[in-house]
Amino acid sequence: MSAIHELPAVLSNQISAGEVIERPASVVKELVENAIDAGSHEIDILVDEAGLKMIEVIDDGSGIEGNQLELAFHRHATSKIGDRKDLFKVNSLGFRGEALPSISSIADVEMVTSTGGEGQAIHISGGKLISQKPAEARRGTDVTVKDLFYNVPARLKYMKSLNTELSKIVDIVNRLALGHPQIQISLTHNNRELLRTAGRGDLRQVIGSIYGMNKAGKMLSIDASDADFKVSGYVSLPELTRASRSYMTILLNGRYIKNYELSKAIIEGYGSKLMVGRYPVAVLNLQMDPLLVDVNVHPTKQEVRISKESQLSGIITEAIRNRLSQQNLIPDGLTNL
Ligand code: ADP
Ligand code: MG
Repeated sequence: MSAIHELPAVLSNQISAGEVIERPASVVKELVENAIDAGSHEIDILVDEAGLKMIEVIDDGSGIEGNQLELAFHRHATSKIGDRKDLFKVNSLGFRGEALPSISSIADVEMVTSTGGEGQAIHISGGKLISQKPAEARRGTDVTVKDLFYNVPARLKYMKSLNTELSKIVDIVNRLALGHPQIQISLTHNNRELLRTAGRGDLRQVIGSIYGMNKAGKMLSIDASDADFKVSGYVSLPELTRASRSYMTILLNGRYIKNYELSKAIIEGYGSKLMVGRYPVAVLNLQMDPLLVDVNVHPTKQEVRISKESQLSGIITEAIRNRLSQQNLIPDGLTNL
């Protein structure tokens, strides 16, 4: 064995990338989350060949100061948390400072950004800084990722068909859009627009853009709360169900999470009204004090630990059960689409 030594940054970033960036959809997720955290009103996502050729995310958010731009690509460099106590009350989608260094260690990345004044462009490829120079830019950030996994052949081989990779991208963009109805989000693949939300803050409209206006009009609104949690959103009538669980979206303080217990709580709200093997379409926003949530469980931040989870499950089940048992099952949103 050779002596212990610290790994060079490029290598440790590639190791992080192994966890954070599993496939093109992970790049889309991380870049769009950054755009959301930057306070954007409009986010355009352009993808070629299911993201394996190119992924571009354009936002109108805060931008990055030129003198900080290179630092943004360092591991664990973040503007989102400062000290230990911030880690227990994360308000942003990002906080680990891993996405940009990870992505730029396994792809070719160009970022053009401006905070309002003169812009800066940076080009990093395979973890190496190629150039940084002033550039024309409006306020916001434009990131282009090309040749993903070009230097990680094993990962590239592991990619599924273009259709599968694209469906993962569409899925994550849908969930991010559902979590942020106030942001106008578009997704374009090989020059074909697949999604465009209105950005008017109307969740039912976003559900309509994704699942179709007809279905969105037939969903029931949910609103419930107690001292710790606030639950809102829409659930489908028992008649309008799917054969897959994947039409249930749970958003915790705007973050799309995967949580078996809470999904079960949704299904339990339907009780015997659901046929075996059928699942509802549901989009639930859960609002709570960030102190009640540990988001630092997994690098992709889709798994979280919630204190008082069973209390929350109870509210969800009750809210859905009550709504479905209301005699008049006429959907309440047919008029405002
Ligand atoms: P994290 O999001 O966990 O902080 P990232 O590696 O994703 O880590 O990004 C590093 C930093 O770069 C962010 O903290 C943020 O300050 C800045 N940044 C990244 N993307 C954008 C963007 N689209 N707009 C503004 N700032 C950004
Ligand atoms: Mg990030």
